[in-house]
Amino acid sequence: MRSKANIEVDAGRRTFATGLLAYLIATLRRCRPGDLIAVTSDDASIAADLETWCRFTGNTLVETNVEESGTRWVIRCGAAPANLDAGRPVGSRLWLYSNFDCNLCCDYCCVRSSPSAPRRELGLARVKRIASEAPELGVTEIFVTGGEPFLLADIGEVLSACAAGAPTTVLTNGMLFGGRQLAALRTLPHDRVTIQISLDSPTPNRHDRHRGEGTWARAWAGVERARAEGFRVRLAATVSTDADAEEFREFLDAQRIAEEDRVIRHIALRGFATQGVALARSDLVPEVTITAEGVYWHPVGAEDADFLVSREIFPLADSFAAVRRAFDHEREHSRRLATIFNCA
Ligand code: SF4
Repeated sequence: MRSKANIEVDAGRRTFATGLLAYLIATLRRCRPGDLIAVTSDDASIAADLETWCRFTGNTLVETNVEESGTRWVIRCGAAPANLDAGRPVGSRLWLYSNFDCNLCCDYCCVRSSPSAPRRELGLARVKRIASEAPELGVTEIFVTGGEPFLLADIGEVLSACAAGAPTTVLTNGMLFGGRQLAALRTLPHDRVTIQISLDSPTPNRHDRHRGEGTWARAWAGVERARAEGFRVRLAATVSTDADAEEFREFLDAQRIAEEDRVIRHIALRGFATQGVALARSDLVPEVTITAEGVYWHPVGAEDADFLVSREIFPLADSFAAVRRAFDHEREHSRRLATIFNCA
């Protein structure tokens, strides 16, 4: 699977000598920093020119794929973020995709979850093993996500196992806190489990447009239920514009939600999304992400081949080492490009 790009360019028969350069410059003028441009051509000989052009213009070649229709190069408009290794250490956060099916089918879901998506369950046995080995590897936080984790009959045991390893946050749409799931919630250690509920807007309009009629009200009821059960609740919004983000921030202020209990991010151009922020591996500090299918670079691309690091989960230490090695390789690559660019 290939990265989604903001702009697709079919180079046709153009080369740098026959018009591709002007075409690329015109395309760049339409881009914002960080956008991804995909250039497809059946003339593989433009590769060297493209790479040189990227070096001299300060853009970054982030991906090359040979496909049936030709070679597809993905170029980021601008350099990789300079502070890629700043912040939390690689491996301190561990993401577990407990399952991929969901009671909703949001139009921007980055892992294409829906009621008909195959479950692809990580499973309690693997979760227990991962959570018990994780602390020794430097994990200080575990995040359980999906799909909708509360579709699982044993979600209480899954979360308890994780919480025994490290403080755990479960990401949910907040709509399934009744009956058996409510009973499961009540068994959890409240000081080790945080519930992060998706709420995209202060009122139903935008939230329901992406997630389905009536979902805002049910999510808000979930927030109130989780709070009433004594959990720390974090609200997470996925937004399209800075104005949407600002409006949600004002809502959170009015609700007196603490900074550490807010997550606001833009839609990622992955999965079902047709618009949003295009993200390549080199744009993101890795956060080890484990699914039933293997180990991935980051939760935002947890079923995309370009984010896959290893099909083998165990030994867990090897998986973490593989992610760190891949990150070192990525940094080395950007340093090399920077050096070449500076010398030029
Ligand atoms: S975004 Fe979340 S709630 Fe929506 S379909 Fe995906 S997993 Fe389900």
